Amino acid sequence: MDVRYLLFGVSDAHSVIFPALESGPFLEGFMSTTTHAIAVSSPGAPLGPTTIERRDLRPDDVLIDVAYAGICHSDIHQAKEDWGSAIFPMVPGHEIAGVVAAVGADVTRYQVGDRVGVGCMVDSCGECEYCEAGTEQFCTKGAVLTYNGVGYDGQNTYGGYSRQVVVKDAFACRIPEGIELDVAAPLLCAGITTYSPLRQWGAGPGKKVAVVGLGGLGHMAVKLAVAMGAEVTVLSQSLKKQEDGLRLGAKDYFATGDASTFDLLKRRFDLILNTVSAELPVDSYLGMLRVGGAMVNVGAPAKSLSYNAFSLIIGNTMLAGSSIGGIAETQEMLNFCAEHGLGAEIETISADQVNAAYERIENSDVRYRFVIDAKTIGA
Ligand SMILES: [Zn+2]
Ligand SMILES: [Zn+2]
Repeated sequence: MDVRYLLFGVSDAHSVIFPALESGPFLEGFMSTTTHAIAVSSPGAPLGPTTIERRDLRPDDVLIDVAYAGICHSDIHQAKEDWGSAIFPMVPGHEIAGVVAAVGADVTRYQVGDRVGVGCMVDSCGECEYCEAGTEQFCTKGAVLTYNGVGYDGQNTYGGYSRQVVVKDAFACRIPEGIELDVAAPLLCAGITTYSPLRQWGAGPGKKVAVVGLGGLGHMAVKLAVAMGAEVTVLSQSLKKQEDGLRLGAKDYFATGDASTFDLLKRRFDLILNTVSAELPVDSYLGMLRVGGAMVNVGAPAKSLSYNAFSLIIGNTMLAGSSIGGIAETQEMLNFCAEHGLGAEIETISADQVNAAYERIENSDVRYRFVIDAKTIGA
């Protein structure tokens, strides 16, 4: 059945969920599950309640009762079709934390009751060189996005703003005891997106790391880099969030709105992790790198950035980018966070506050991640 035709096809979204479906476990081969969700019907439209169908459990699937879904800025970009043609209706959400409610016949790694998370992707070919290397995000066949994507079965994918989700067991990660599910949810995108480049570029003892921007990604970057043992500096437009930055473990905090900052910090950093999606004077940032240092972008401005080649040449510096991480690295990140007692700084909201939350995110008015309490969806 094509779920696109079911979305918004029900006049009273609150009455259609089958009472028996609210708790697992189910037998494999059971009918598909109708679940409450929050969806966007067309580009830029407000979010509203609906119901969707989740597929029957395949042998390697798990059904997850979503507990919390983080709101990532990229949810907003996709809901507004900022990044090119998107699929509507859309149920956003790729920061999912919940509990396994049922497992397919062949699933051995998870049991009902296990705490799990789902991030930005829910499938990949499993056979190409990148999948073999555990970097499914680079799958040559194309990893299947958690929402605004199309599965290999041709079905559109729907994300975490929902009471339940069904995914292949290999794309669920275990959330260790010691991290609450609400603060764990944002780790599945904001956490791994910053953990992966910090690891790749050697953040650790003796390394000076600058984090550009103290938002959803930036605040996780600070926490993670500090836990890795690096000396961390926050570079933010103003000193408005200085107190927070220092509380999260940063040693220094500078305003990039003050031009003297760039002179003061010349040749200071081994790594600059740029988490903002605004246009930046790239040459000025490259000037703050030590010889051989790297500036790595995880924020994505709409317009192209430009730089002078000499900014790289004179210090053998690098300008790079980083995507999310693979599933194995995502699990490693969750384990690291549990070991170090790390979670996101969150504001928990109910389903009816999602549109207001979107507006606040666009005004940079959140400290530092909204998470939707999933039991309020369709309640
Ligand atoms: Zn995200
Ligand atoms: Zn692949």
